[in-house]
Amino acid sequence: MNRILFFLLLALAIYIAWRFVQRKPLPRQDDESDPLRLPMVSCATCGLHVPREEALVQDERYFCCEEHRRAMAPGPE
Ligand SMILES: [Zn+2]
Repeated sequence: MNRILFFLLLALAIYIAWRFVQRKPLPRQDDESDPLRLPMVSCATCGLHVPREEALVQDERYFCCEEHRRAMAPGPE
């Protein structure tokens, strides 16, 4: 009887493993993973295009780096 249980568990394990493999996302040319499709913004100081996620934002303007942000909008001294 224990053997049957063992094989049932084995079959279950194989089934789960199979499902896991099937779920694995296949490497495909997905547009969403294309870095060129990231929303790009241009630096208000130098015009360099940077991904919006990496850009610094101040007064609804984007900057490529802290230096350029300061150059365009100097903080209170
Ligand atoms: Zn810049």
